[in-house]
Amino acid sequence: MSSFDPDSVGLSSGHFVDGAFTVAKGETLSVMRPSDGKCYAEINNAEAGLVDQAVTVAEEKRKSSGWSSCSPRERGAVLRRWADLIDADIEYLAKLEAVGSTRPISDVISHEVPFTAEALRFYAECADKFSGDVFPTRQDSLGMLISEPYGVIGAITPWNFPLSMASWKCGAALASGNAVVLKPSELTPFSTARFAELAVVAGLPAGVLNVVQGSGQTTGNALVSHPLVRKISFTGSTETGAKIMCQAALSGTKPVTLELGGKSPQLVFDDAGDVDEIAERIFLGFTTNAGQACVSGSRLIIQKGIANAVIDKLVEMCQQPVPGMTWNAETRYCPLIDRRQGEKVHSIVSASVQAGAELIVGGKRFEDTAEGWFWQPTLLGNVSQDNIAVQQEIFGPVLTIQIFENEEEAIALAKHDIYGLCAGVHTLNLQRAMRLMRTLDAGTVWINRYRRTKDFIIPTGGFQGSGMGKDLGRQSFESCMRQKSVLIDF
Ligand code: NDP
Repeated sequence: MSSFDPDSVGLSSGHFVDGAFTVAKGETLSVMRPSDGKCYAEINNAEAGLVDQAVTVAEEKRKSSGWSSCSPRERGAVLRRWADLIDADIEYLAKLEAVGSTRPISDVISHEVPFTAEALRFYAECADKFSGDVFPTRQDSLGMLISEPYGVIGAITPWNFPLSMASWKCGAALASGNAVVLKPSELTPFSTARFAELAVVAGLPAGVLNVVQGSGQTTGNALVSHPLVRKISFTGSTETGAKIMCQAALSGTKPVTLELGGKSPQLVFDDAGDVDEIAERIFLGFTTNAGQACVSGSRLIIQKGIANAVIDKLVEMCQQPVPGMTWNAETRYCPLIDRRQGEKVHSIVSASVQAGAELIVGGKRFEDTAEGWFWQPTLLGNVSQDNIAVQQEIFGPVLTIQIFENEEEAIALAKHDIYGLCAGVHTLNLQRAMRLMRTLDAGTVWINRYRRTKDFIIPTGGFQGSGMGKDLGRQSFESCMRQKSVLIDF
């Protein structure tokens, strides 16, 4: 797709409730473009009354429309049509995403939108595949476990991958017969609204999926606390995840799925193979979306014999990216979401260097990018395990480097007190790879690769402070249903 003028993209206004856009009275929030910091729209901050309206409609319509009780294959058919409409609408959806988020248009066209449609197709397939169990009881009885939807699921998504996060959460929840009220980040509201509008065009009964716009404090809080919301699915920071967990417990002991922060290690052994290929994996692992990904492989833990060769190659790669507006077709290197995120990256990198880290390359903003916060790919060497850049999630293109001599040392360095989201292991030694697969405290272990695929059957989710429960996989589909035990005497 060619470059486009960001001011030419039409935006929906308001919340999407009961199949139509609606604007409520009250506070408005400015929405900025990450590439140039320009305020390009305002959204209405949904207060408790509007959230109540969205949740109540969702509960009524999931029952009255038959969405919860229809045959699962019918639900699957709607999801497949929805995916087709997303593919057909790729140009508009991609523009919305490229204007408002950090994703360059080339990336949104090749990845974000197709992945969004494919995730819905995956859940369409789940709809009639997984459910319940039958137990060996007595000859004159039948014991069963039957699955049924919770009712209304509250979904809260972050700004880093707005469309695909929405598809993961809505796909699982809707395929299993629930209704959804979704709050996207107020930093990236528009692509999600269009996503929901297309669902209704595809045949999802109006009101079964509603989008409420607003801040976490106001809209998010009202959604989590609403008594008719029976389950919460959240992706975001560990701190907010903990608050949501408390709020969900206090307002109805609701189950939560939390996909939270990470500080994921990439372990490279001397026997990992081709240096250029390894450097490429490591580089993409910490610079994709300028490091603004929960799975970012932000800690390189590398064996002494191969370290210099890989680091030299990484330095070379770090000097190549050219920042650009996300609506330009040539742009490959993207901005941080906003000034607040930029200042966070700056303060952690500065504190890390002050505490003894060696700044090998990067460490500052690109010059001449006006109000856009484009951060240079940054390598921090000589970091101790307690260095702030090793301990805290930075959410920027920053890689810490630690060198080890043997496997035991590598395992000790990989261990993190707070996070356990992902780990990468790069070795051609099969026994070592299998050992580490079992040893590492991470919800996902990638061996000789470091990125997601369209294998949506593989669930994703973290250990410890990185969250609980899974997105994707049959596990996320099943987690949107509650299990009822039944015993029938003949
Ligand atoms: P948050 O976790 O605060 O926000 C994520 C989502 O939760 C947003 O939609 C947010 O709304 C909402 N939210 C915030 N507070 C509440 C609440 N009390 N109740 C319900 N919903 C709430 O992340 P930030 O955007 O503030 O980013 C801060 C840091 O979080 C980043 O630097 C990064 O480290 C981490 N992060 C991790 C992500 C991941 O993929 N795991 C994604 C995004 C951030 P609102 O935007 O209005 O606050």
